[in-house]
Amino acid sequence: MARALLDGHGRTVRYLRLSVTDRCNLRCLYCRSNVMQRCIPHSQILRYEEITRMVGIAASLGVRKVRLTGGEPFARKGCDGFLVMLHERFPDLDVRITTNGTLLAPYIPLLRHVRVGAVNLSLDSFDRATFARVTGRDLLPQVLAALDALLAAGIRVKINVVAMRGVNDGQMDDFVHAARNMPLDLRFIEFMPMGSATPWSVENFWSTADIQAEAERRARLIPVTADAAESGPARMYRIAGGLGRLGFISPLTNHFCLSCNRLRLTSDGALRTCLFADKEYRLRGLLRQPRITDETIVRVIRRACADKPVGAELLRARRGAAVAVKQMVGIGG
Ligand code: SAM
Repeated sequence: MARALLDGHGRTVRYLRLSVTDRCNLRCLYCRSNVMQRCIPHSQILRYEEITRMVGIAASLGVRKVRLTGGEPFARKGCDGFLVMLHERFPDLDVRITTNGTLLAPYIPLLRHVRVGAVNLSLDSFDRATFARVTGRDLLPQVLAALDALLAAGIRVKINVVAMRGVNDGQMDDFVHAARNMPLDLRFIEFMPMGSATPWSVENFWSTADIQAEAERRARLIPVTADAAESGPARMYRIAGGLGRLGFISPLTNHFCLSCNRLRLTSDGALRTCLFADKEYRLRGLLRQPRITDETIVRVIRRACADKPVGAELLRARRGAAVAVKQMVGIGG
């Protein structure tokens, strides 16, 4: 294997997030900012073979974990075949998926077959009206059915809740109930000011400290130590007497940049080294030129990593509300 992929701050990159599409069947208010954006033309979206080549290159540089995200990964035709292809070519790779769960149910046997490491389900409310308000669609029953089916299939589940004051801050009873009664991780993510038209504001920001205090009024939380590889940026807690765990991801109030080990590839083939940095390294053209070898692409990836910024500094330096111009739906979270 080639030498590991180090960035300019001594961090080792082992994790690649792949946005397989910029299309989504939901219109989450924190993600798309309710602004209608034109979808990227199909010809500019990486073909599955091209993404697979990128995964091979990344794996040769020491990447061990890959996450499919989007847009909504299951909104792209052939996502199931792509999962099979990844499994066959890279049987040791830890493949995970982030999904809104609305289209997921028919694919659950396949996820089990290809041994997906975990499914991250974006689920910001267990209340049907709030779910519809956040996502623009009344599809909570479908997501809850998929959640039950995932657990029945023995697939590891992490629920991601984007925490927003005035939206889901009155629903802590439901969140604690879910984590107490189901064998899953439920992680609150601080609302990030992403995308130029973001509705983020000081008023709708719900900080980890306040979320955790609210949770601790309902449950005794026992810190989980040294689980970094599995919990990523989340600080995890067991619930005394419960089946699941609660976690807190605090990109704004307690950033985790120093342990960041990830790279992102957008659906149109651009490498992003930091969620908060709009700088992109366009690889699609290179991937489509027959004379360009993997070695050339490796050189671009290494150069990009060497310039990887510290997101917290960008956050501090931001002017106006948003830290990055691109919306999350185009980055993949
Ligand atoms: N469609 C898939 C889904 O809903 O999970 C994958 C894409 S979505 C962009 C990936 C993740 O980004 C979700 O877990 C979502 O909660 C998170 N996300 C999007 N916008 C966010 C924001 N402004 N702040 C915090 N998290 C955000």
